[in-house]
Amino acid sequence: MSTRVGFIGIGNMGWPMAANIAKAGHDLAVYDLAVFDLNQDRVARFAAEHKSRAAASVGELAQNDFVITMLPTSQHVREALLSDESGAFAKSLRPGAIVIDMSSSDPVATRQLGPELARRGAILLDAPVSGAVPRAITGKLAIMIGGDDKSAIARAKPLLASMGDRLFETGPLGSGHAMKALNNYIAAAGYTAVVEALMIGEKFGLDQSVMVDVLNASTGRNFTTENMIKQQILSGQFATGFALGLMAKDVKIAADLGEAVRLDAPMSRLIRERWAAARERLGAARDTSEAMLAWRDSLPD
Ligand code: NAD
Repeated sequence: MSTRVGFIGIGNMGWPMAANIAKAGHDLAVYDLAVFDLNQDRVARFAAEHKSRAAASVGELAQNDFVITMLPTSQHVREALLSDESGAFAKSLRPGAIVIDMSSSDPVATRQLGPELARRGAILLDAPVSGAVPRAITGKLAIMIGGDDKSAIARAKPLLASMGDRLFETGPLGSGHAMKALNNYIAAAGYTAVVEALMIGEKFGLDQSVMVDVLNASTGRNFTTENMIKQQILSGQFATGFALGLMAKDVKIAADLGEAVRLDAPMSRLIRERWAAARERLGAARDTSEAMLAWRDSLPD
């Protein structure tokens, strides 16, 4: 069934996700701040390449049945929905509209945003994704759905199924965002452990490529050993399409959540600190796979 969908944030992930919504035959309008950048008018380019309309303002999207956000952080989501263009989006929201935040946002901020949108007649769901750009392109993302309105979740599922083939209901509003941050904390911790081991091994005289082969045939294998070391790091490609600053944001959300629920989770604090240091040293725009370049210091003799 075709539904009217507004999509905000045609970035690395948003572009292929919105492309799959268009391909599924929904009536799609897209918007991105890059619309104001004449040199890289992503929105116009997207609309030309996919069956959809380019919206010139965020307010234009408020009358859709569904509005999806795929933006860097909770703060960007909040601004787009409540304050950009003097709050044009919130002011003209269609009653009963379902807003789905698919960004990797902060679950605490999501729980605050829900009632604010509800006062304007809209229902907020969180539905962050995992699988990165390759699985966004193939429409095979894992999607973690949180929300307090079961019937809104049921209505959103066919739309979400155009972007992902593994849909999980994680619980109340914000639970999807909590799950996503915890997943990325584990992925970042795995990366951190693997690159430390490779750097120690190299200094001792081991060949890093051989190390990866051994790890992938052994109990130390993980997403980083299987998909990142040879493909992105040893090849010098460093092009996962996932910015280092976004990963640093995710591990901070996870560690902060540990503190919010008052659990002593020292490893999450260390990983938050390591990734914040990498972002500081290299810059937020560098690729996630490059974080190790910030951590090559030797201890003094
Ligand atoms: P990105 O930086 O490539 O895209 C974000 C887009 O949002 C940009 O095009 C930017 O112009 C736009 N934008 C920012 N503020 C805006 C506003 N107020 N209104 C309209 N558009 C605005 O980021 P991405 O890699 O696509 O990631 C998006 C979200 O998905 C992040 O929360 C990230 O953590 C998460 N995520 C990324 C990946 C990945 O592999 N890249 C995987 C899973 C989840």
